[in-house]
Amino acid sequence: MSKMTKTSYPTAEAAALGGFRRILLNYSRWTDVEYGFLILEVTSEVVKQRGNEKVTTREKRYHYTEPETKNTKDAIEVDVPVYELPALRAFCHTHPTNGGFSSHDFETFKKLSRVIKDKKLKQEVVFYLMSVNQQVRQSSTEEGFMPGTDVSGLEKATP
Ligand SMILES: [Zn+2]
Repeated sequence: MSKMTKTSYPTAEAAALGGFRRILLNYSRWTDVEYGFLILEVTSEVVKQRGNEKVTTREKRYHYTEPETKNTKDAIEVDVPVYELPALRAFCHTHPTNGGFSSHDFETFKKLSRVIKDKKLKQEVVFYLMSVNQQVRQSSTEEGFMPGTDVSGLEKATP
């Protein structure tokens, strides 16, 4: 899809809320058209001091990609290059309307789950949605996909 941003977060959800916060602050057209972005997992080596020893540990961090729009109101697609697929943890987008995920989103979710399975990858991919009333919800299973479940913390998120 696009460029990964610099700020890293301890969880995929914190990164998703950060991305939505950035849209609220910097992308005025989000009330008219959809914006979408990805959450990617990055493993980096972190050197920590333990007593008088330096210990290298591997740490998982999460980044969002630069939000993009295709100027549609509900037709956004997950556009992930194959090499990025193993790092993909979530797909996030906005709706210029209220309510839950659309049937188009559900089809996109099923298609993406199939691609992940075909590539023999094991991760779960979560879909996050922010509607125009700034309600964030998430879904990661086909069951109950369209209503999803509410996610809180948007007001306090760091962009
Ligand atoms: Zn949608």
